[in-house]
Amino acid sequence: MEQGLPDGAGDPEEACPECGLTRRKLYAEGQMGCARCYQVFAAEVERALLEIHGKSIHIGKVWEARDGG
Ligand SMILES: [Zn+2]
Repeated sequence: MEQGLPDGAGDPEEACPECGLTRRKLYAEGQMGCARCYQVFAAEVERALLEIHGKSIHIGKVWEARDGG
């Protein structure tokens, strides 16, 4: 089974078309890849805001740009 993704998290292979970050990787690393991620993974953003003490997803107006991978 997949590890790390909570119930109702959605398709772990769904990826951001901009930076290629997958939902699985988002949960693994706890960090958005780019601005587009906030739209693709809007549900995760809301979840993180609601469960900000339970999850370690980094949410902010400024994200850390990652070049290469
Ligand atoms: Zn992205």
